[in-house]
Amino acid sequence: MFTYRISSFFTILFFVLTAHSLLTRKKTIRFCIVAFILNTLFIFLNGIYLTGYTDNEGIVKVILYFISFFYIVYLNLVFEESLSKKVFTFFSIWLFSTIALFIATPFAELVSGIDDINYTQNLIYIFRNFINILFLLAAYFGIGKHYKAILNLVSDKTIRYMSLYPVIAFLLLITNFTTPTHIAHLRNFNSIYDMILFLSFIIVGYVLVFVGIFSASQIVSMQCNMERLELISKTDSLTGLYNRRYIMEKLENELINYKKTKNKFSIIIADIDYFKKINDNFGHDCGDQVLKVVSQNLRDAVQERGFVSRWGGEEFLILLPETEIVNASILADKIRKIIEEEIIEYNGIQVSLTLSFGVTANEDYEMIDDTIKKADDALYKGKGQGRNCVVSS
Ligand code: GH3
Ligand code: MG
Ligand code: MG
Repeated sequence: MFTYRISSFFTILFFVLTAHSLLTRKKTIRFCIVAFILNTLFIFLNGIYLTGYTDNEGIVKVILYFISFFYIVYLNLVFEESLSKKVFTFFSIWLFSTIALFIATPFAELVSGIDDINYTQNLIYIFRNFINILFLLAAYFGIGKHYKAILNLVSDKTIRYMSLYPVIAFLLLITNFTTPTHIAHLRNFNSIYDMILFLSFIIVGYVLVFVGIFSASQIVSMQCNMERLELISKTDSLTGLYNRRYIMEKLENELINYKKTKNKFSIIIADIDYFKKINDNFGHDCGDQVLKVVSQNLRDAVQERGFVSRWGGEEFLILLPETEIVNASILADKIRKIIEEEIIEYNGIQVSLTLSFGVTANEDYEMIDDTIKKADDALYKGKGQGRNCVVSS
């Protein structure tokens, strides 16, 4: 009888600790410590009270109901997660507790033999608590982060269905608690009621797991589609660079950032010299290949320093946040030299080309269109000066 009380006590302690660890992962350390101390105190006080009533089954049962009820209320009040997500957390914990029991039972029988029921029973409790503690450690150190990810994946609707599960599990647990110790064995059902409850527990569990997996996989594929659509909406299909619409958004954001940080941003507009001739001499496909290689060169040269976009047919706009015009010009000249030296192979044809650059910085929080106009004018000047050069304004 005593082991049974201790076991119930530890099972509830495990339940609370796991819920606590899983739900407090993102909270502050101080909050976690205070909540943990309060939880533990509450559990110990109840445990002492409970063990004082070793002879009275009825009172034990009522207290167990109360402890569980208080904890559900407590977790509900303290944690910000939605109600359905809290229910899902309880569901997972019940599931782990049941798994612990299923592992403990055959293991205890294996060690002690089936004959000595009392001894087996004690071993089951010891193993169960031992496995529960292992689960707790795993939950705390290993699965907490992934668990949060699963919580975000499973839809609220699915979780609402899952709330059925802990209800059945709770009933099952109560019957298990109130069964006389010497036959408190999940395999020896005391009544047809236990049997039906247990079968529903298993069947509903399977159904919910499949529904959960189905819903999660649907959400994952939806997320993939959304990510793909987002990428398509902001990039140019030929070069893979950002498109004009997206870079305009970035420029507007950068202007806001400049107002906040007082750090200027620069832009470079680059245009391929005599690109029409490349198309005319070697064909449109060769022109496309040239655009791809130039884009890759621009990306490699700029890297994390800024955003490279395809501004028009053979024109590129590079946004360099928090960059002075001098540094932008240095970068433009570096790119100019790289392109000048590059020889592009296409179907046995060797193509070489040059770029002209217009460089400018946003002054006094001017409108984006004005900054672009300055860069365009500088580029036009460069074309007039004989191309393959960097002009800043
Ligand atoms: P400039 O040195 O003055 O810039 O001369 P340019 O020949 O480069 O300039 P122009 O504006 O006369 O010609 C640009 C050409 O780019 C015309 C157009 O056919 C070509 N073009 C635009 N988009 C594409 C594209 O996606 N693929 C290919 N192959 N050519 C393109
Ligand atoms: Mg051109
Ligand atoms: Mg052009």
